[in-house]
Amino acid sequence: AKNGGRNRFSYFTPAMQAQAQTRLRLIADLRGALAGEELQVWYQPVVDLRSGRIAKAEALLRWFHPQMGLVEPQRFIPCAEESGLINDIGEWVFRQAAQHSRRWGERLGQPFQISVNKSPVQFLGRGRDSDWGGHLKDLGLAGSSISVEITEGLLLDASPIIIDRLMQLRGAGIEVAIDDFGTGYSSMAYLRKFQIDYLKIDRSFVQQVATDSGDRAIVRSIIAMAHELGLRVVAEGVENDEQRHALVEAGCDYGQGYLISGALPPEAFEQMLLAR
Ligand code: C2E
Ligand code: CA
Ligand code: CA
Ligand code: CA
Repeated sequence: AKNGGRNRFSYFTPAMQAQAQTRLRLIADLRGALAGEELQVWYQPVVDLRSGRIAKAEALLRWFHPQMGLVEPQRFIPCAEESGLINDIGEWVFRQAAQHSRRWGERLGQPFQISVNKSPVQFLGRGRDSDWGGHLKDLGLAGSSISVEITEGLLLDASPIIIDRLMQLRGAGIEVAIDDFGTGYSSMAYLRKFQIDYLKIDRSFVQQVATDSGDRAIVRSIIAMAHELGLRVVAEGVENDEQRHALVEAGCDYGQGYLISGALPPEAFEQMLLAR
């Protein structure tokens, strides 16, 4: 059996200390990253699964740290949330996405939607919420040029301020997607109550959709339920054609993943978009 003995009170191991230090360094460096142009917004195509046509794109942050190289969002987003920096960063991502939506909409001759991840911290922020709808209007864009990806958890503890801010987005015509659907606990009732537009089925269900009958059943019923409620469905992490095929069979509307393309720098994404 594990003996508590001597180690019982050493909660702060050297490894943990090193980790805490790395965190602090990341937070400190992140402060300068925005100004120093180390942050970039890349774009991953979201395709109509049947036709393969690019339907929209998801904006994903990339941080090129001068010493550490590429730092994964999974590593720095939590630091940005903890420090509150996510508010400024998230605002900047939104503005970048809005500009690119305008540019690509003009190139295509029709509106082009870009979805932006919005952290729960941004919904809870004490400061005044910025007016995304107003910004889009100033750019001459429809609200639906942007969709916002939120997590199930946000709906679960929906406080008045969160509801207010969600409704403000919806009121401006901005669409709302539930990210990583299936990994949290949101009920169908929430999807109706908040008039959600998209469900994004988490990659963990998509991975074995072609090979595991249980996962396939889950995916099929999520899609059927979403469609009954008038929502559209995006499958995340589509990596091979077997998965794509199973998703089409299940009636899934859109997909994104390495089968089509990972996130690309704006110039490369534009090339792909206009080449089709
Ligand atoms: P997410 O919103 O679930 O984004 C999808 C992640 O899956 C992205 O990772 C994407 O690059 C990756 N991915 C796409 N296709 C595939 C595939 O076929 N297979 C696999 N294995 N992965 C795929 P990324 O870019 O590293 O971002 C990780 C997470 O960081 C995102 O998860 C999101 O939660 C967060 N994030 C990224 N950008 C932002 C941002 O601007 N704001 C906020 N708040 N969070 C962001
Ligand atoms: Ca997302
Ligand atoms: Ca996701
Ligand atoms: Ca995910």
